[in-house]
Amino acid sequence: MENDKIISIIVPVYNEEKNIPVFFEKIKEVMDKIAYGWEIIFINDGSVDGTLLELEKIAKLSDKVRIIDFSRNFGKEMATTAGVNNCRGDVCVMLDADLQHPIEKIPEFVSKWENGAEVVIGIRNKNKGEGAVKKIGSYFFYKIINRITDSKMVPNNTDFRLLDRVVIDEFNRLSEKNRMTRALIDWLGFRREFIYFQANERMHGKAGYS
Ligand code: UDP
Ligand code: MG
Repeated sequence: MENDKIISIIVPVYNEEKNIPVFFEKIKEVMDKIAYGWEIIFINDGSVDGTLLELEKIAKLSDKVRIIDFSRNFGKEMATTAGVNNCRGDVCVMLDADLQHPIEKIPEFVSKWENGAEVVIGIRNKNKGEGAVKKIGSYFFYKIINRITDSKMVPNNTDFRLLDRVVIDEFNRLSEKNRMTRALIDWLGFRREFIYFQANERMHGKAGYS
């Protein structure tokens, strides 16, 4: 039975031509089993490879696919924001296209939401391969962020997140142009829950920024 609520999947993409077909297959597999309607919004963030072409291919095959095509590279934060601004869902889930955020975890995010969470945040379990410099760097990063902002960020939190419509609407009222999406979401408050996951290696290509 399909519920009349809709889930919007939001995916910023920058030079992900090789990942898109696999990513979309996995999304379909997982989302078609969930008892809600869904749509997926890809934000093409000024890719210079065949990303747009790949997106258009899957959009032709599925009316669930929507594409926002940026005129140049604006960065992941702006891309994600455009997705949230334009999604139609009662709830949205944002995640990366490179398969580092495990798609099979989406049902767990959804079930936290069904149980009353308004924001569900993916927390990355420590990566074994992570060097000391990066570890120390992120330790101070959270120390500083938590000092200068009045909303606590949980260490190792990621952009793999679910937002209920009440949060989406509040998020859409913010006008910060220079934004860190997840800090803004944390700042908004709401009922929060966490999902722990092991990040995968990026499937194809290399990280566009860090
Ligand atoms: N991305 C984007 N614009 C950019 C850089 C990255 O939309 O300028 C997308 C990218 O395609 C991926 C996600 O944001 O879906 C995370 O990027 P990446 O894997 O490069 O970063 P990391 O894994 O280091 O967080
Ligand atoms: Mg990545």
